[in-house]
Amino acid sequence: MNIHEYQAKSVLAKFGVAVPRGGVAYTPAEAEQVAQSLGGALWVVKAQIHAGGRGKAGGVKLAKSLDEVKRLTQEMLGMVLVTHQTGPEGKEVKRVYIEEGSDIGSELYLSVVLDRQYSAITFIGCKDGGVDIEEVAHKTPERIITVPVDPAAGIQPHHARSLAFGMQIPAELHGDFQKMVFGFYEAFLKTDASQVEINPLVITKQNKLIALDAKFNFDDNALFRQPEIAEMRDESEEDPLELQAAKFGLSYVKMDGNIGCMVNGAGLAMATMDIIKLYGGEPANFLDVGGGANKEKVTEAFKLILSDPNVEGILVNIFGGIMRCDIIAEGVIAAAREVSLSVPLVVRLAGTNVELGKKMLATSGLPILAADDLADAADKITSSVKKQAA
Ligand code: GDP
Ligand code: MG
Repeated sequence: MNIHEYQAKSVLAKFGVAVPRGGVAYTPAEAEQVAQSLGGALWVVKAQIHAGGRGKAGGVKLAKSLDEVKRLTQEMLGMVLVTHQTGPEGKEVKRVYIEEGSDIGSELYLSVVLDRQYSAITFIGCKDGGVDIEEVAHKTPERIITVPVDPAAGIQPHHARSLAFGMQIPAELHGDFQKMVFGFYEAFLKTDASQVEINPLVITKQNKLIALDAKFNFDDNALFRQPEIAEMRDESEEDPLELQAAKFGLSYVKMDGNIGCMVNGAGLAMATMDIIKLYGGEPANFLDVGGGANKEKVTEAFKLILSDPNVEGILVNIFGGIMRCDIIAEGVIAAAREVSLSVPLVVRLAGTNVELGKKMLATSGLPILAADDLADAADKITSSVKKQAA
């Protein structure tokens, strides 16, 4: 799960990480009020969407008067921001964050991720942060430093020192920086985050360290014990199909292709997508129906797949282990009838009672193509979709 920047900053602030003061606003009048209560002579109006790259897309603007705050908010609300992280359809701005403006001296980069290679929570730092960090990482990867934290010993002052030297933080700020690094680590750990990013981390002209932008990703499986974080969820930022899927216990990720997939098990689902590509097709989605795939779940899964207008064929690939193949076949037949399926459907079953399952599909009277193995299934679905298009 993701949260908005203003929420991320409130979480960081709780762990002692310095952030600018600010307030969220849903209307230009609210924005003006927030700016007025913050005081000062410079404010930043920031579009709140679940994507980075806002600066370059016009979603971060400086205002020098209360009138300007109001005007910029007016312009930003309702705007569809297209950034390198939103995809071409963009995201509509429904709230803005009004912040006191900072006098930026330099922009750095700092993030914490769970690094599988090190099997450790790992800091990533760079002295050149800001909106071009991707380019820095691409062209001068040697400037990026990584500092893994031993999970048994936890965070130690030497981690902060390594980062401080690697990021060329001036010596007089090392004390503040260490406090920030420790707070940052605590915030990651205590909220069950999977990734936290501060970009930019700035050193102001007044020589203060501040987290000027903040992004969190949380482990969905830990949300049950993070009620305060779960409370921050903004469902309007999430894919409606993925939300619907989650309600039925289905793991669904929409993709750009035209072959819908229904599979049990995440690994098998990935393998299915791979083999579709190997046979020249493009998967329309990842869908794991899970272990106990009953008729209701299979029907919901069909509906989900078909609500994507790009889908021109469906491949069902189920291994009947605990769940028997005849039960799966029953579910597929019932679901195909209920949704009055209009695209080619290829079904590959394997496992317990596979013969019975296949027989049920063959005698159902439905135009279901049975496949013997994964390669046969991929071949059949890609060629039926192609034939249809021709
Ligand atoms: P992102 O583009 O979505 O990552 O949004 P950021 O919050 O990182 O803002 C993008 C850029 O706007 C930053 O890298 C800064 O250069 C600039 N910016 C943000 N806040 C301020 C501020 O308070 N003062 C000034 N001068 N620039 C700011
Ligand atoms: Mg940023």
